[in-house]
Amino acid sequence: MHIYRKVLLLSVCLFLVSQSNAQLLNERSLIKSMVFLSSDDLAGRRTGEAGNQQAREFIAKRFGELNLDTHYSDFLQSFSFQGRGNGQKKYEGVNVVAFIPGTESKKVIVVTAHFDHVGIGRKNSQGDSIYNGADDNASGTAALLEFADYFSKNPPKHGMIFAALDAEELGLQGARALVRDFPFSLDQVVLNLNMDMISRNEKGELYVSGTHYYPELKTILEPLAKNSTPKLLFGHDVPGTGADDWTRSSDHAAFFEEKIPHLYFGVEDHPDYHQPSDEYKNIDPEFFVSASSLVLGCLLTLDEELLKE
Ligand SMILES: [Zn+2]
Repeated sequence: MHIYRKVLLLSVCLFLVSQSNAQLLNERSLIKSMVFLSSDDLAGRRTGEAGNQQAREFIAKRFGELNLDTHYSDFLQSFSFQGRGNGQKKYEGVNVVAFIPGTESKKVIVVTAHFDHVGIGRKNSQGDSIYNGADDNASGTAALLEFADYFSKNPPKHGMIFAALDAEELGLQGARALVRDFPFSLDQVVLNLNMDMISRNEKGELYVSGTHYYPELKTILEPLAKNSTPKLLFGHDVPGTGADDWTRSSDHAAFFEEKIPHLYFGVEDHPDYHQPSDEYKNIDPEFFVSASSLVLGCLLTLDEELLKE
């Protein structure tokens, strides 16, 4: 090969590497957020408890540092609801919601991840009673913070709401509250992109669920899914497949019920799901960084392609 062509090829490769999504994301900051949110100090981030409040303050502080807009005082959207168990306990939940205006559209993409988890519970055989919720869902929350950081520096074409939601574990309450008291007309929402559990999978697979109902979204994402790391698979959204159907399994359900297109990114359940062992030491940092980068790449493509709809 001629030396000139070699140099040209090399610079094309370097350009592609520099353009790859991994470079868009601050890995250290992503991991730092995950470590903090899943630490024992936050005691499993149960709605209404001190650790949950610490998580909420951490998220709001970051949104503030990024100078994001919001429709709520201090980014906090409060709501109350009644628990489902005996005694119908009354809860106060608080979502943390920021907004970045679009440069080309009044339409809005809503990025969601729940930051609450189940708190302190029954001890496991190792005597651990803190349900840290590292994968579920410190992972999605940490990724959401990095996405907000990215778009604060590279404004999106659509308006983007970044909503760290509370009380998912108590019945998608935060998502329902956001949809009920939404800062725009719901007609303006073109997509809900929800992340819940994106930091580990032994097979190296990440699922995106929801395209059964919205095949046009599959068409947009298919090129990114080809040869992706982790492997991006479509599915878990076919009606009548019981627990295999994730359409109502997390916060995106509140949008689905309003007939708003959704994409839910998550991994299949693992042995540490809803166990005290869902801890930072059991996630896969490499998987987590590449999964977060992949979802950000999907979000960038959707922001571009949905303008054409
Ligand atoms: Zn979850």
